[in-house]
Amino acid sequence: MIRTCVFCGATFDANRKRDLCDECAHAVEKRIYHPTHGVCCVCGAVMTDARRGKKYCSKKCKRISRRIIAQRWHVAHPEHKEVKKPAKKEKPEEKKSFLSDVEDLGRKMGYGGYGQMMAVIRARCQRSGLSVRSEFCHLKFVYEKEHCHD
Ligand SMILES: [Zn+2]
Ligand SMILES: [Zn+2]
Repeated sequence: MIRTCVFCGATFDANRKRDLCDECAHAVEKRIYHPTHGVCCVCGAVMTDARRGKKYCSKKCKRISRRIIAQRWHVAHPEHKEVKKPAKKEKPEEKKSFLSDVEDLGRKMGYGGYGQMMAVIRARCQRSGLSVRSEFCHLKFVYEKEHCHD
């Protein structure tokens, strides 16, 4: 999808929502991580009224910087891929087997049935920000590691 850079007006191709072309994004990133007092970290505008710690000249710049920082974080932490909504095409059988897998693991681990196991998984998700499936797989993996004697 063709987008227009909000700073330099260059057009560029991006498959996700982005405000800036690569060049501008790079320059902004540099300013964000090496800020200069009195200069907007995003657009580089000189802020004559800059109070201590003021980093952005406008709400718009603040929003842009937040997006760039988030993008950078996701690039550095690929294991925390944004949790996608479950695919619509998910087959019902697959869902059913996930439920019984959860129930099964709950019994094995001594939590009880499905409800109790899900409560444990959900609590972990809240702390980690990962998906229910990821936490389930993790718990299952740990359980199997601990109970596999070969
Ligand atoms: Zn640009
Ligand atoms: Zn600015």
